[in-house]
Amino acid sequence: MSQPQPIYVTQPDLPPLADFLPYLEKIWDNRVLTNGGPFHKQFEAELATYLGVKHISLFTNATIALVTALQSLRITGEVITTPYSFVATAHSLLWNGIKPVFADIDPTTLNLDPARIEAAITPQTTAIMPIHCYGTPCDVEAIQRIADDYNLKVIYDAAHAFGVRREGESVLTHGDLSVLSFHATKVFNTFEGGAIISPDAKTKQRIDHLKNFGFVNETTVVATGINGKMSEFNAALGLLQLQHVGRAIERRRQIDALYRDLLAGLPGLRLVDKPVNATANQSYFPILVGPQFATSRDALYQRLKDQGIHARRYFYPLISDFPMYRGLPSADPAGLPVARAASAQVLCLPIYPALTDEDVFRIVDVIRTASRVAVPAAPAAATISGAELLAA
Ligand SMILES: *Cc1c(COP(=O)(O)O)cnc(C)c1O
Repeated sequence: MSQPQPIYVTQPDLPPLADFLPYLEKIWDNRVLTNGGPFHKQFEAELATYLGVKHISLFTNATIALVTALQSLRITGEVITTPYSFVATAHSLLWNGIKPVFADIDPTTLNLDPARIEAAITPQTTAIMPIHCYGTPCDVEAIQRIADDYNLKVIYDAAHAFGVRREGESVLTHGDLSVLSFHATKVFNTFEGGAIISPDAKTKQRIDHLKNFGFVNETTVVATGINGKMSEFNAALGLLQLQHVGRAIERRRQIDALYRDLLAGLPGLRLVDKPVNATANQSYFPILVGPQFATSRDALYQRLKDQGIHARRYFYPLISDFPMYRGLPSADPAGLPVARAASAQVLCLPIYPALTDEDVFRIVDVIRTASRVAVPAAPAAATISGAELLAA
């Protein structure tokens, strides 16, 4: 019997190649490859319209955008952030010589818990860096109240939140700045890419200088800028991708609904609730494999893998467990029980527009079968050591 095709957690969505060739011909004709060329200008404008925001600065990727966002607001000292994210969130702080302070997450949304943010504030705190995890909006109002009370800036890592709307408005309008990622694995991709959403033209201009070495004109450099510019190639692709992203998100919605239907009521399995006041983008399909489930999370991960289904443990390990963070007082596991439990239980199932209903049935079948497995007499034998997991 032939092995079925492997299924990965995501597969980048691409337009038909033929549709991209005219864009490439234009680039070849006019020889403008970067430095804010015509596709860059057009993509910034169309993206702002699509997202329902006013001021966007395109970047080469989200990590450089996060580093630049912190620079633009001159953030120093300590920043309160979540350990339950991709490592780039906290790395952007270290690149600026800022001390990350990890606060625990809310068990329902898996986003920074506002009560824990407030408890982590010290005289050195200058900002909060939350993420809209899996595209679920943070409690933006509570976070803004805290920021106002303590005079802190808020920079959202919105890498998961492309197109997410809350109370009918783009979630990207909250806080002082929001940062998007257009990496290949995200809902909307330009191969690599990112953006900062600013509240006003002056802030955008400062960011645009910073992403271009600090140049304001041919001979004047006003800041220690970096090179964070998006190329014409990526901007042209972004323009074309914008025409397809609505359909892509619609297909993700169907898959999300099918998973929810088929996985409902399995003992010990929790689906992360969809936010009631927001239109999500279904960027991920996380499940939480609790102690009542018939196998451990890692045993289920392995069973899926044995069937060629590559689910991912986003986010395991926690950022606070990586070597450059674990010595921080706020990285102490005792202070982060919710993040720790989520990290031990989470599994992100494959979700992407090209995933078929049959693929979903195949994935759910493995999970349903696993859910009927009796707990082994010696459960320790069924679990994999932490070292083996990290090596995998
Ligand atoms: C993907 C991701 C990033 C990094 O984005 P790049 O564009 O790859 O630099 C940052 N934060 C989060 C939460 C992400 O998921």
